Formats: sequence, structure tokens, C-alpha cells
Amino acid sequence: MRPQRAQSVLKGTGHGALPPMLEQYVKMRDEVAAQLPHALLLFQVGDFYETFGEDAERAARLLGLALTHKSSKDFSTPMAGIPLRALDGNVEKLLAAGVCVAVADQVEEPGTGLVDRKVTQLLTPGTVTEERHLGVDENYLAAVATGDGYALALLDVSTGEFRCAAFHTRLALYDELSRWRAREVLLAPELAGNGALLADFQARFPVMLSPATFAEEQGRAEVQAALGEVPGTLDTPALVRACGAVLGYARVALQGQLDMVRRVVRFEPGAHMRLADSALRALEVFTPQSPQGVTLMDILCQTRTAGGRRRLRAWLRAPLLDELSIRARLDAVEALTRAADLRAGVRSLLYRAHDLERLAARVATRRATPREVAALARTLDLLPEATRLLDGQAGLLGGVRARLSALPDVVTRIRAALVDDPPIRAGDGGLIRDGFSAELDEVRSGSLAHRAWLAELETTERKRTGIGSLKVSYNAVFGYYLEVTGAHLSKVPADYRQVATLKDRARFTRPDLREREREIARLDAAAARLEALVFTELRDSLAAHAEALAAAAGALSELDVLSALAELAVEGSWVRPHTLPETMIALTQARHPVVERATGGKFVPNDAALDDGRFLLLLTGPNMAGKSTYLRTVAICALLHQIGSFVPADHAHMPVYDAIHTRIGASDDLAGGRSTFMVEMSELAAILHGATARSLVILDEVGRGTSTLDGLAIAQAALEHLHLTRAHTLFATHYFELTRLEAELPGVVNLHVAAEEDARADGGSGLTFYHQVVPGAARHSYGVEVARLAGLPGKVTARAGRLLTALNAGGDDRRLVRELATLDVSRLTPMQALELLHRWQREATGTAEAETAPS
Ligand code: ADP
Ligand code: MG
Repeated sequence: MRPQRAQSVLKGTGHGALPPMLEQYVKMRDEVAAQLPHALLLFQVGDFYETFGEDAERAARLLGLALTHKSSKDFSTPMAGIPLRALDGNVEKLLAAGVCVAVADQVEEPGTGLVDRKVTQLLTPGTVTEERHLGVDENYLAAVATGDGYALALLDVSTGEFRCAAFHTRLALYDELSRWRAREVLLAPELAGNGALLADFQARFPVMLSPATFAEEQGRAEVQAALGEVPGTLDTPALVRACGAVLGYARVALQGQLDMVRRVVRFEPGAHMRLADSALRALEVFTPQSPQGVTLMDILCQTRTAGGRRRLRAWLRAPLLDELSIRARLDAVEALTRAADLRAGVRSLLYRAHDLERLAARVATRRATPREVAALARTLDLLPEATRLLDGQAGLLGGVRARLSALPDVVTRIRAALVDDPPIRAGDGGLIRDGFSAELDEVRSGSLAHRAWLAELETTERKRTGIGSLKVSYNAVFGYYLEVTGAHLSKVPADYRQVATLKDRARFTRPDLREREREIARLDAAAARLEALVFTELRDSLAAHAEALAAAAGALSELDVLSALAELAVEGSWVRPHTLPETMIALTQARHPVVERATGGKFVPNDAALDDGRFLLLLTGPNMAGKSTYLRTVAICALLHQIGSFVPADHAHMPVYDAIHTRIGASDDLAGGRSTFMVEMSELAAILHGATARSLVILDEVGRGTSTLDGLAIAQAALEHLHLTRAHTLFATHYFELTRLEAELPGVVNLHVAAEEDARADGGSGLTFYHQVVPGAARHSYGVEVARLAGLPGKVTARAGRLLTALNAGGDDRRLVRELATLDVSRLTPMQALELLHRWQREATGTAEAETAPS
């Protein structure tokens, strides 16, 4: 039986008995697989972590390791290893690739027999808590279950944030899941078991096929164990199952440590602006479209703490819908923009803060190291000052103040116990202050007395023996010893016992010396034990304040974001938007914050106005004129407004949009690299289904992914549909044919970006962009001019120009045909007929002349 199992894990050859170490490996690998089926086991063998069999092949591929073989008399299996010191870097790589890792360490000194080993760490992408494996950003583990819709649970074990929601449709679930960017998604068996569904999930999210059990009873027990109760908000079996699954999975991965989780927040998916991942990408909120690109987050990230940065990201992902909450944030930001001293004070204080959210979570789980507890004290030390700075503030800032000052004084306790700069580990001693524990002090002074005696020994023995050159030294072999040079050997007293003879000197010891030495070692070990005990007590006493610590941490993060937004507003001359109850937007001199920075002072601000009378803006203009920038400017202002930020404009009146929908045409969708027409159409479909009269819709060159006529037809049909929803729509297009919709559909307004053709010395023409958005449709597409700007050979652009004219003439052909078709010949006089013929001929020759002109 065993060799067979070994065979499947080790994928080796031969049927002989395994060497004992591999037997141990196989057993451990099985145990790990029972908890995390796809985890890779890193197995310490001396100075290396080794992998064997299938794991070795995976590790070699993922980490670029050399694959060797572990062979015995009649068994051989692939093997690949990494040096012990390279563990962290490699674990990071594996986690980034979505691979779970188990680390088995040797837990005793190697002797003659088989070394004992234990799994010391289970690491999964969504549950890592060690700072070195985490970015500063949030790290969510998600679970999805079904039953009367969908239920989602999200847990960030590094901060203890735990939330859940129920959804009616899968699309709504997808929206929310992509909003939170979970590192690991666990699927209930009813989902994972459905091939098509599973494939759909896997195409979008890092799905883990884990054994997390989604059984309702067990879920209830997990929730009960973690939170002390099953809150009433978990009112469906699916919610209980999803919450239970993330907790159970995290509990296994963290080996029981789930104390950072204190409550679950049930959120309403409709409570935030709908902002699909595609919109976040189109607006380059977190990820740039080109590798060196700058994101909105890069500009906004004036936060000073990791917690603040995470909070800002959370706000950007979940803009508010509630007018009062938006106003409350704007009030706080405004207060901070007005009070320069307060802002500067707060920001310099935040600069000195450590990641309080994560420290609080570490304390709650009793995992904090002495150094982390010291960092906690340093950060908490800042709070009284923060509270003072916020004196007299109302609204959100008043709330922040209250949460910061509600913390019991734990700093004094930490300060009293811990030295200023403690070591990382508790076991090595040297972390507890003198005077904190009488017992510890006694042990320490005992050790010190012996050391003092030793320090004096040289002097006393020189006096006693009369040997002026006698020395007391220490080495690892004999411990403390007395050294006498050859000339004085005769003076050595009888109680000295010789332990070594060198060329010109001898070394001695004395029974009482040994005694003292043993006593020092005993007392030092006792002191280290006591220190560890005192530290553990201190840390555990802090865990009792976990709730207040987490609240203070949250308040600090919030303060950080608000003051960062205020700083941005002041530095960039942003303005507070007036929040309007009606659906109407009016921006004066609005700027795109990222492009503005890139163009360094040369940015051309533009106005934007949409309301009931004009809600569908059709923007034409040559390539590179600034159409996409204009569209995004409006959308970014809407996003900023709803996170409670000022906006880059001179004046702003803004509604509360329920969603920002974007569709960026195929060729502009650089980052996705998935510019298939199918994707474009499915996203367009989602917009057409989802847009309401309170939505903002950005359509940029939709229809580019297919042939001109198809694209045009689809674009027009989509516009007509959107027109019915009355959503605020900004549509940038190169289809001039669409501009005539202005005459047909009320609410449609043509705009174009100004550009001017100017004659050039070589007889061709150049193009000047003004980036100014003005009323009316563009005259034509300028495609050929842009091609010339891009450096196409002159012959090619000239030929293109002639072809274009001919094609336009073709348009005239169609007009002639139409005129002919509608003509009632029976009612024409011969004279009229002649005149008509004459005019047609003139028109035809006129275009023919034009065709030969520019060569
Ligand atoms: P389009 O979508 O019309 O092809 P883009 O919006 O992509 O044009 O803009 C092209 C480039 O023009 C931008 O990368 C930016 O450098 C510049 N640009 C766009 N709008 C402005 C503006 N308002 N002021 C200054 N430069 C701008
Ligand atoms: Mg564009």
C-alpha cells in the first residue's frame, strides 16, 4: 500500500522500499494534501528545502530550479531544492503564482537517526500574515456559495476585516468580486462541480480548488467559534456557508490563529456605486494601460501610512451613493484644506506612525514580536497629539478624534515593560526593562554578581599569586580559564588545575570557576525564560484591547486619507464639488489629473455639461486630439466626487451617479490585450442592460473591433438604446455618420475637439491640436493627416488622400443615384431635365478635377 501511495506522490520509478526520509516526506505530503490539496511541500534537508516527485517538477518550472534525482538502490524520484536562506523570495514567487506552500522544518539537531520534522508554516496567497509576504495593500480571501442567489464572504487576515454580501445575479457577484480583487477564491462544490461555471470563474479570478468545506453545520460552527455567535445578518444558509468556508480555510492555514477576526460586516452590494473592473482599468485607477504608465492611484496616493493607502484603495473601489455621506467626507476634506496648520500637523504625525491596523491584528492573534509591540507603543504614543490637533472638530473628524482617544493607556504599560529597542525574538532575552519584574531583577542581579566576581578575578588572583601577567580569559572549550606564562609557572597555587599547555604558557581552571560559570548559564537561561513569560503576559494583556486598537487604527487610516485628499486639493488647486440631488453635471475647466501631470502645465482644461436637455454627447475629432482624455476627465471627476474628494476643476456641480460604465474600443484597450470583438460586445451588452438614468456611460470608439459598416451599425443601435435609458453618455467616435443623430434624437449633442489643418512648405498640410472641446461635429476625420504626423511615407499619404477623395465622391454617386430614384421624370419639362443633367455633369467633373489636384 505505502509504495503505491509513494509512487503517486513521488512519481518515481522502482518498487523497492523507500529510504526512511522519503517515507517521512510522503507521509507529511499526504497530511498536507488533506488540508491543502495543491500545496507544494518544502521539506528541509540540512541546508536546503527540497521538493520531490511531482512537486519537484512544479517547483523547477515555477522557480526555475535545476531538476535532479534522488535515488536509492531501487528507487528514483525527481528532486529540486532551494537553499534555506532563499526561502522567503521563493515563497513570494510561489504565492504570486497562486500556489500554496507548506514548509516542513527539522525540529531537532541532526543525529545518527532520522531527523524529526514538522510543518511549521502553511502559506496561501489569501491568508499570509507575515509582513514580508504581504504587499502593503489589502489581501482578501474570498468564498462563494449559492442557494437563492449567491453569497460572498471576504476576509483579510492581515487586518481582520471580514465582510459578506448576498447577490441576486452572477454578474453582480462578478462585479463585487473583481472590485475586491481577492487573491484566492474558494468555490462551493455546487459551483466548482459545474464545469462551465467553474471555467467561467477561473477565467476571471484566481480560483483555488480547496477542500474548504461548505457544509452549513460546519460553517455555523466556524462562525460561532470565530465570532462567539452567529450574527442575525447571516440570514441565509449560503451566507453562513460562505463565511464558514473562509474562516475554516484561514483557520487551517493559520494553524488556529483567528483572533484578529472580531465581527462580520454584511454589506449591501447596492450600497456603493457600481464600478466594474473594466471601468477601473479604463480609467487607469490602479493599473496603467501601458507598462510605464501612471495611474490615478499614483497621483492620489499622498497618504502617509500603509493603512491609509489601503483605505484609499477601498474608497476608490467602492464610491458612495449616499449624498449625506459624500457631503460628510467633503466637509472633512474641506476643513483640512482650510486649516493648513492642522493638516501639516496631522501629516507629520502620520509620517511617524507604523501600520497600526496590522499591528492591531498581530496583537489580537498574540503573534506580535517584541519589536512589533514596541512599534505599537511608538504609534500609540502619537495618538494624544492627534487627539489634541483634532480638538473642536465636528463631523467625521470629530468621530476620528473620539476613536483615537478612546484607547486605554496601554503605552505606559508597554513602555514600563519593554526596552526601547527590543530584539525581534522574545526567546533571546534583553527585552524587558530592569525594575519591571522583581523576580527577573533578582535573577539578573544574581547573574551580575557572578559576572562581577569574574571580572574582579584577574586582579584578586594577581594579588594572591604575585603573578602580574596572570590573565582570565574565556573560550568555548573550557569556559573561563586562568592563563600563566612559562616564567611564572612555579608560582601557580595548588588549587589551580591545568587544562592545557601551550608553547610558552599554560591554562588552568579551578572548581569554583566552573561552578560560577554554570550558575551564570543557569541564571541567564532562567532570565530569558522569565523575559519570554513577562513578554507573553504583556502581549496577552494587549489582546484584551484588540477592539479599541482596531478602532483607533481605522480612525488613523481614515484621517490619513482625508488629509491626503486635502493635500491634493490644495496642491492641485482642486475645487469642492457641489453635490446635486438631480442628475445634472457642470464642470468648468476640468482637468485629467494624470494627463495634466504628464503634460506639465500645458494641459488644456475643458468644460462639460450634461443634463436632461443634453445627456448624450457625441464627440468627434481627429486621432490624438484629446477625445479619450476628455471622456476620462469627466468620469474621474465623478469617481473622485463620490469618494468624497475635491475634483480637478475650477467649478463643479455634480450628481450622485449610481454607476460609471465604460467601454473602451478595441484598439485603445492596450492593457487587457483581449481586444476581441466578442469581449467588446459582451461588455457593451452589460452596459446596455445595466445603465439607468442615473448612470454615467463612457463609450470610447465602440465598434472599432469589426468592419466599418458592422461597427457603425452596432454603434448607432447602441446609442439609440442608451438614448432611451437617458443615462449621461459620452461617446467618442470616428464615425462621422453618427453626428446626424443630433438632428434626430433630442438630447444628443455634437461636440468636437478643435484641430486645424495648416498648409506646409512642402505643399502638404499639417495638423495642430488645440485639445479644446467645442460645440458641433468635426468636419472630417483627419485620418490621413494623422498618418502623415505618424511618419507614413509621403507617397503613401498622398495616395491615401486621393483615395479618400474618390471615396467621398463615391458618397456623391450614392446621392446622385438617390436623387435619380426619387425623381418623377413624367413631371419634368425637357428644359428642367436638361438643367438637371447639366448640374450633375458639373458636379461630377468638379470632383474629378479635385481628384487630380493634390499630387
Ligand atoms: P484621442 O482619444 O482623441 O485620440 P487622447 O485623448 O488619447 O486623444 O489624447 C492624445 C494625447 O493628447 C494625450 O496623450 C495627451 O498627451 C494629449 N492631450 C489630450 N488632451 C489634452 C489636453 N486637454 N491638454 C493637453 N494635452 C492633451
Ligand atoms: Mg482615443
